Amino acid sequence: MFSWLKNPWQRVRGGGKGRTSGPVRIPRDQHCVSRSSIGRYALKVLYRLNEAGHEAYLVGGGVRDLLLGREPKDFDIATSASPEEVRKLFRNCRLIGRRFRLAHIHFGREIIEVATFRAGHEGDGDSRTSDNGMLLRDNVYGSLEEDAWRRDFTVNALYYTVEDFAVVDYTGGLADLKAGCLRMIGDPQQRFREDPVRMLRAVRFAAKLGFRIDKEVEQAIRELGYLLEEVSHARLFDETLKLFLSGYGVASYELLRQYHLFSHLFPETDACLSEEENHFPHTLLLRALENTDQRVASDRPVSPAFLYAALLWEPARREAGVFVRRKQPALQAMQLAGDAVFARQNPRVQVPKRFSLQSREIWEWQERLARNTGRRAMRLLEQPRFRAAWDFLLLRGEAGEEVAELIQWWGALQEEADPQVQQRLLQEGEKLARANGEDKPKRRRRRRPRKRPARPPQS
Ligand code: ATP
Ligand code: MG
Repeated sequence: MFSWLKNPWQRVRGGGKGRTSGPVRIPRDQHCVSRSSIGRYALKVLYRLNEAGHEAYLVGGGVRDLLLGREPKDFDIATSASPEEVRKLFRNCRLIGRRFRLAHIHFGREIIEVATFRAGHEGDGDSRTSDNGMLLRDNVYGSLEEDAWRRDFTVNALYYTVEDFAVVDYTGGLADLKAGCLRMIGDPQQRFREDPVRMLRAVRFAAKLGFRIDKEVEQAIRELGYLLEEVSHARLFDETLKLFLSGYGVASYELLRQYHLFSHLFPETDACLSEEENHFPHTLLLRALENTDQRVASDRPVSPAFLYAALLWEPARREAGVFVRRKQPALQAMQLAGDAVFARQNPRVQVPKRFSLQSREIWEWQERLARNTGRRAMRLLEQPRFRAAWDFLLLRGEAGEEVAELIQWWGALQEEADPQVQQRLLQEGEKLARANGEDKPKRRRRRRPRKRPARPPQS
């Protein structure tokens, strides 16, 4: 796989730290990127841009993953054409983004993202960074070389062209790819200050590729984790989904904890984890992430709402306990706890309402499952929310919570096809429900019939 790495990277001195005299070009016969493994739409875009006289390269994860013999998640293209020029070439193109305009070319459900070469911000003073060095604007067009140097990690700055099928490397990415090392382009401290999300990207790539993180990068992450608290909360939500729902959730989680980044994203969960009371939180979250990784590996769907229900379960469970001790009924206590936990979490990682409502439903259903093992169980079973709630109950069981009896009962009810046995189960379930503090059906108040005014005697 690495035949192309016989020697050429040795010409690149200093890895991603400093600019070199020129790029290393690896010809087609010395690397393993073949056109047959590039998506046909990405190829179409590359060829059309070239035919119109523009430079165009496959870049980023697409090239990195192909060189590693992995299947890329998506294909990103960088070009010398301006967004307007790209739009003119493709009818199915939409320009997006205000801060930096990107062209999205739509082919059915597939989108190819085309970005115009951008320059870094060196040499133009600090006008584009905030007081603490955060990049505010990132929208100056540049050359291919400038585009390479403003990228995050050396392994993400490799370019592939269909002109002569070469791979182009300005920053020493090929050597780092071979060494399995994530190295920052430029000074890690400065690059993390410009955009703290790069710390999460480091963790994500290390987890996904099994790469080690370069020592200087590690050091900078340990020092600057707190900067995550200044990042847009909506963007952090997107990043957490990439970290936990891309098939490498367990490894990402462990690295986030190792580098003390988890506490800046989920402070309350982190506090619970640190106490490790009965090992519940640790195990539940790990189990949830293990299950999620397995689902991704077998192409089954995964859900942000379920993930967040697991991520925040421990703070929610504890808070509900406080409300119960204040004599709130269990279901209400869980609702109040859900409100409170998400209200405190959202200033860090903003979970969109459509997901947080579902997470809270999963929690509330835990109470419903505990208290409705009697006659009303059949109705719960038929509701669309049952599945996620049941999966979550199983997770709690795996994590050692005391729900074995409930799991056994609901499991038996779901499997039982014989109506007579079902009836027996439902009767037995009444006892279990009472033990768990059954939800009493609300009594309907009988309306007293109004007295009609006496009719006047008919004459
Ligand atoms: P994935 O497999 O997740 O798609 P990727 O490396 O392609 O990984 P993208 O988020 O798709 O990641 O970004 C494409 C490329 O854009 C990256 O490889 C990198 O070169 C560049 N890039 C993305 N985000 C940043 C950032 N915050 N700072 C600098 N460069 C970035
Ligand atoms: Mg990508």
